[in-house]
Amino acid sequence: MRFALIAGVLFSGCASGLLAENPTPNLTVTLLIQSAEDIAPATLAVMGSEVSQIFEPYGIGVSLFRYRSGASTPVMERAIVVKFCGDCGPASRGVGDLAHSGATLAFTHSVDGQLLPFIEVLCDRVKAVLMERRFGEAQPPMFWMGRALARVVAHEMYHVLANTKRHTEHGLMRSNLSARELTGGSLTIDRQAGEKLTSTLFSRDKSVGATVTAGF
Ligand SMILES: [Zn+2]
Repeated sequence: MRFALIAGVLFSGCASGLLAENPTPNLTVTLLIQSAEDIAPATLAVMGSEVSQIFEPYGIGVSLFRYRSGASTPVMERAIVVKFCGDCGPASRGVGDLAHSGATLAFTHSVDGQLLPFIEVLCDRVKAVLMERRFGEAQPPMFWMGRALARVVAHEMYHVLANTKRHTEHGLMRSNLSARELTGGSLTIDRQAGEKLTSTLFSRDKSVGATVTAGF
C-alpha cells in the first residue's frame, strides 16, 4: 500500500454530538477515499457521519480523506483504502436490473487468506439494491446513498479491523444486507462481533480468533 503517495482533503466523519461524548477515541481510522469523483459532498458527509456512529461505541474514530493530488498528507494512525467503482451518484439514478439477492456489494482484498486494508465498493450494485425500496421525500437521494454506502463500507471495515471474514445472523455483519437494512434507522454490530472487534484491536491477548468463512 502506497499510503505516502495519497494526498487530498481531510474532513471528519464524526458528528459533533458524538465528539462531545467521546472526545478521545482509542483508535482513529482514516478512510482513504479513491475514485469517488461522482459522489456528492453531501453523500460523503452522510457516509462519514454514519460510519462514525457505527464504530464510536468501540472507541474507534473515523476520518475520511478524499484523494486529491497536490494536497498535504495527514498523519494517519491507521489507514484503509476505499475505492468506489461504477456510478456512485444519487440513488434515484440506480439501475434495477442488477438487483438480486446475494449480490456482492463490496469486497476486501486478501492475499493468502490475509485481509488487506483495501476495500472496493460496487456502487451500481448498491444502487440496484436501493431500487427495491421506495423512499419518501423527507431526505434527498444523496442522503440515502450516503447511508447505504456507509453501511457497506462499515461492513468491510469490520472485516479488516477485526481481521475476520466471519458473518453474523443479525446486524451489520449479516452476509446479505437488504435495502431496508442499508437505509433504515439504525444498523449496528451485534454483541459477539463487537467483542471480537475490541479484542482484536485492543486486547493484549491476540490469541482470540475466529473461523474464517466466505463473505461479501
Ligand atoms: Zn462480509
